[in-house]
Amino acid sequence: MQAIVKEKRAPGLTVKSVPKPAPGPGEVLIAVRHAGVCGTDLHIADWDPWAQSRIKPPIVVGHEFAGEIQGLGDGVTGLRVGQLVTAEGHIVCGHCLQCRTGNSHICKNTRIIGVDRDGAFAEYIVMPTTNVLTLSGIPTEVGAIMDPMGNAFHTVLTAEIPGSTVFVVGCGPIGCFAVGIARAAGATKVIASDVNPKRLALAEKMGAHVVINAAKEDVVQTVVAETDGEGADVVCEMSGVPSALHQAFASVRLGGRVQLLGIPKGEVPINFADEIIFKGITVYGVIGRRMYQTWHQMRRFLIGGQFDPRPVITHKFPLAKIDEALAVIRSGDAGKVILEIV
Ligand SMILES: [Zn+2]
Ligand SMILES: [Zn+2]
Repeated sequence: MQAIVKEKRAPGLTVKSVPKPAPGPGEVLIAVRHAGVCGTDLHIADWDPWAQSRIKPPIVVGHEFAGEIQGLGDGVTGLRVGQLVTAEGHIVCGHCLQCRTGNSHICKNTRIIGVDRDGAFAEYIVMPTTNVLTLSGIPTEVGAIMDPMGNAFHTVLTAEIPGSTVFVVGCGPIGCFAVGIARAAGATKVIASDVNPKRLALAEKMGAHVVINAAKEDVVQTVVAETDGEGADVVCEMSGVPSALHQAFASVRLGGRVQLLGIPKGEVPINFADEIIFKGITVYGVIGRRMYQTWHQMRRFLIGGQFDPRPVITHKFPLAKIDEALAVIRSGDAGKVILEIV
């Protein structure tokens, strides 16, 4: 089968033919139809310090996908050949303290497809049935981005949204999803900031009531003015940019909540007293998707038609054009970029 492979401990990705995998006991074979390309894949392609410490080539990359079940391993029940599915890409141990207390998203033994084992930028992938979710009418191009969309659902829905003012900091694909989810979940005002006008236009398309160009406007002043002088009830920090992190804490109201998803490149100095403690706020770190609460909520929002992520998909490429896909992500102007496998 054709696959995108990290072959060597050096920059670059290779499109090549590799053996088709076979499903073991409790696993299914999935023919991939669509796959999402994301920042993680860029880190692996560029062979940055994180990739050097984590990735053991050769490995098939890619972790966001949807496709059709084409084979069942021994003992598989409840799924059948021909079903359209996606999957949680974090494969967890099931026996650590976190897994046994309903917090598998922070399992200490997590193995991620396309990072720690063969991934989804291929014609076929094998997945444990525990991780597989049926699409039930959700198109595969949407199913393929339920992993990053799930991060946005996790970020937004672990805060109290109905009747709230929500400020989304950073309008990359996950930030734009968060805008639409906050609207769908009943936020009364959604404010979004970024420095890129194309991304702000996408956020507007996803339902932001107010967009702030952080390169030109005073972010904190605008948020405070738009929230009756209080600050936002909920702030979702999706950028990881140090200046934006400080804006997130300065924009949240007293007693509000800051959801942190964006990952800063290095250490960020913070004034704990003024930015967190004296404001009496709650800070929540978002990693992955709650298994499987986030997935069930997301499926219902999508199947019920409350939320449609498709305006955020701006580019589609065939598998062989992975370098072009990475280039548009690098440009900073793209929304979500997906690969069409079949
Ligand atoms: Zn991703
Ligand atoms: Zn575990």
